[in-house]
This record gives sequence, structure tokens and C-alpha cells, in this order.
Amino acid sequence: MRRALVAGAGPAGIASVGHLLQQGLCVTWVDPSFTAGALASYADVPANTKHSCSVLSTHPSCAVLSSHHSCAVLSSHHSCLSSSQHSCAVLSTHPSCAVLSSHHSCAVLSSQHSCAVLSSQHSCAVLSSQHSCAVLSSQHSCAVLSSQHSCAVDTLWDALRNVIPHGLPSGAPTLAFEEMCANARQLKHNPDPSKLGWTGMAECAAVFRGLTGFLLEQPGVECVRGRVDALHLRDSGQWRASIRRSQVDVDAVVLATGGTHTRAPPSLEPTGWAAAPPAARVLDVDEALQLPKLRRLVGPDEHVAVVGGGHTGVVLCRFLHDELQLPRVRLFVRRPIMLAQWSSASNGYTSWAYRGLKGDSADWALAHGMVGRKPKNGLLQAGGRLELYHVDSLHTSADAGNVDAVAFCLGVSPAALPSLFKVVDNEIQTVEVAGHSHGVLYDANGQTISGLYGVGMAFADDEYTSGEAYPEAGFLPFSLRAAEIAREISLKS
Ligand SMILES: Cc1cc2nc3c(=O)[nH]c(=O)nc-3n(C[C@H](O)[C@H](O)[C@H](O)COP(=O)(O)OP(=O)(O)OC[C@H]3O[C@@H](n4cnc5c(N)ncnc54)[C@H](O)[C@@H]3O)c2cc1C
Repeated sequence: MRRALVAGAGPAGIASVGHLLQQGLCVTWVDPSFTAGALASYADVPANTKHSCSVLSTHPSCAVLSSHHSCAVLSSHHSCLSSSQHSCAVLSTHPSCAVLSSHHSCAVLSSQHSCAVLSSQHSCAVLSSQHSCAVLSSQHSCAVLSSQHSCAVDTLWDALRNVIPHGLPSGAPTLAFEEMCANARQLKHNPDPSKLGWTGMAECAAVFRGLTGFLLEQPGVECVRGRVDALHLRDSGQWRASIRRSQVDVDAVVLATGGTHTRAPPSLEPTGWAAAPPAARVLDVDEALQLPKLRRLVGPDEHVAVVGGGHTGVVLCRFLHDELQLPRVRLFVRRPIMLAQWSSASNGYTSWAYRGLKGDSADWALAHGMVGRKPKNGLLQAGGRLELYHVDSLHTSADAGNVDAVAFCLGVSPAALPSLFKVVDNEIQTVEVAGHSHGVLYDANGQTISGLYGVGMAFADDEYTSGEAYPEAGFLPFSLRAAEIAREISLKS
């Protein structure tokens, strides 16, 4: 039987394993800890993935019923779905949304502005609607669609349903999901009309850890604790993976190795702008996002600067301001802080769908008068402790002076990949991953690297809803890509 290797057990690796098993492949799964990847570090961080109305939702406009064996999913502005044990009939009462699915076949219809979804027991389908989109998974397959103008409502529910093709297994994952649903929070300030609940990364991590445990128990999964150090493409077309001192031969490799916080460019380093030595300490963003560690990293009277006005930068400002109660928190941004724009007509985010703030961070930024403001280079609100500056003013001693510590929240770059080699004319050559698209990796000559795929934070494709390229990073896109890759690998068998 063909075997694939998945490197990484974050959300993207978990989805990859689920979909590869679904395609009938055996999987060697490698990760140092199997604790849901980066999510393990972000217990205190609010998620920017919308929690959807779901099986367990008590949202008044949502009536849902789902079972262990089959399912159908949809999301719409006002209503929802039902599903029964072996067959399903789904409906939505939203005027612009209609869905129908049955035991062995399916029917879908999509409406003018909203979404339509279907599920069937043995097949899959894809559809798209004019302005928005939806996703579903069923017992043996899944279906995906993409839209013309906007991105998916990246609901956690959609994503989780899609991670394991037959849905969320009973036991630990379902219990964690139930708890997440029970504790979902509403926003106070952000005018997101859907009023769906929001959750935190700790809750997400608990569900993903439950899924990890489930997958590790599946026949055909070999668990290897460690890191893939090197990969050699052999003449046979197989890859030989080196993990510590052992080696394993596989037919295909999926890299789900995640990202690291992007380093500051030399022009922003504190030595370039500190008023007087010693220059400000640079905080490790991963550590700063963990409250207990942040409390050790920063003293109670210190002045801290955060550079970058995305989700991470705002979360960190919030920690420093609300949790540590620092006397002065300075945020340096390139442009006004933007929210992801929700459209109730299309039941999805339209502009700034990924780049803009969502959830609790959006709420908090609104409450503190941060959103849409040109940096005013000073206090945001009279009597407050939050200051907003343009990043260029880092170089003026008045604004950047007396900063004790700085955190650069400038996005995420791919984590270091295993070393890649191939043999050409009896010579071992290094292979460089120079690009990627739709999970396919390219070498420096623009050639596809055979049998090697990438998914997750390190290999997210760009989306353009903010007018500029921005990685389409989220549980749902990762999961959809993992499904595509698994299908591609199985087709090559
Ligand atoms: C503040 C903040 C909030 C966020 N909120 C959200 C959110 O709401 N929704 C969302 O979708 N995302 C969110 N993210 C991003 C989130 O971290 C990623 O979506 C997710 O963790 C990426 O998953 P991944 O599987 O690609 O990588 P990771 O979670 O980073 O997992 C990668 C795994 O691969 C392992 N690994 C690395 N190299 C190797 C190797 N050579 N061999 C074997 N294993 C290896 C790592 O140890 C790790 O376990 C947020 C990030 C931050 C910083």
C-alpha cells in the first residue's frame, strides 16, 4: 500500500493525515510533540476564526441536528441545517440559500448572493455562488467551493468538519468542541451582524489535540516523535526521510511544518533608533503571546513598543495594556488598523478578509479608538495609556526614546524546512523550494518537485481582498488544501 509522510502535527498536518487516510493511504506522521503545533503556545490568544452555529449551537436562529455517521453543513445568515444518522435532508430558510442532500445522491442549489452546501454519502461536489461560499464534508468525501468575490466564512465549525472527512469523531474531540460551543463569546463593539460566537486558541487547541489522538489510533498511521531532518528524492521517485538516526521510504511527502514570526528588517532594529544605549530588548513574539512568560519578560513599570498592527500586534497590546497594566504601551503601524469587513448580504467577509482584524481583537481595537485612524503619534484617548505612531517615527527619539522592550509583530515566515536532496548523475544535489502554489512546490528552475507538497502556514497561497497580496491563512483553507493534496497523491498511485 502506498505510504505518505506528513511532517508536522499542527492544524494543517492533522488535516493532511485525516484526508490521506480517507484516500486509503498509509501515513508516517512526524512531529516533535503532537500537541497541535503552534496552537499549543497560544492558550491566552483569542481566535480570529469565527465560531459558527453548529451542532450544539443554541443560537435562536439556528436549528441543527447532526449525527455520528453522516452530516450536512451549511452556514447562512439566519438559519441552518439538519442531518440524521444515515441520510440527511438539509434546509435553510434563508431566502437566498437553499440546500438539499440525501443518502446516496445529492442536489445543490445555489442562490443569488449566498451559499449553498451539500453532502452525500459517497461523492463530493463543488459549487460556487455569486458572492460567497460554503464547505461541507460528508461521511466519505468532502466538497468545497470557492467564490467569485469573497472568501469563505472561515468558521471553525466548517474547518473542523473538513479536517476529518467523516466529521468530528466522538470522544475527546467532540467533548472539546462541545465545551468550545458552550463558552463561545459574543462581541461587544464590532458590528459583525452575524452575531456568532467567538472562541480562543486554547479551545481550538483542545479540539485539535483530540483529533490528533483520534488519528494516531487509526490503522495505517505510524507515529514518529521527532523532526524530519532531511529528505532525499531517489531514482525510484520515492522520498527517503531521515528522522534522527532512522530512515523511512515513502511515496510522497507533505510538509506541514508551520511558520515563525518574521524578524525585523535591519532598518527597524533597536540599535538603529534607540535614543541612548542600551537599546531596547527585542521580545520573542511566541513567548510574549504566552501571558505567564510575558509577565516574566516585562517589568511592571517598563515602556514597551509593539510594531505591527495586525492580529498579533493588537493581541499583544491588549495583554500589555489590560493584563500587565503597563503605564505606557506604544503601537507603531504602517497604515491605519483595518477590520475584516463583514457582508450580511453574502454572509462572508469581503474586503480585508484575512488581513483585517476579526473577533475579540477587532472588538478591543474598536473600543480603544484604534480602528481606521491615521497614526496620530501620541495618546489615542485622553487619560489613556495607549499610544499610536507611524512606524517611521521609530527613528525619532521623541517617540521611540525610553522604550525598554519592543516586539515585532510583522507576520509569519515559513519555518526552516528539512534539507532536501536529489541524486543527479550520481551526484547528490541540494533542492531548494523556491516557490509554491496550491500546495505544489517548485524548485529554483520553476520545476515541480515531484512527490513533495506543502500545506499550512508556510505554504498558504495569497489572497487579495485587502488590495494587496496576503496569505490565506486559516484552519479552513488549510484543511481544504490538505484535501486537494491527498486527492492528488492518491491519483498518482
Ligand atoms: C496571535 C495569533 C492568533 C492566531 N489565530 C488564528 C486563528 O484564529 N485561526 C487560524 O486559523 N490561525 C490562527 N493563527 C495562526 C495559527 O498559528 C496557524 O493557523 C496554525 O498554527 C498553523 O498551522 P500549521 O499546521 O500550518 O503550523 P503549526 O501549527 O506551526 O504546526 C507546525 C508543526 O510542525 C512541526 N514541525 C516543524 N518542522 C518539522 C519537521 N522538520 N519535522 C516534523 N515536524 C516539524 C512543529 O513542531 C509544529 O508542531 C494565529 C496565530 C497567532 C500568532
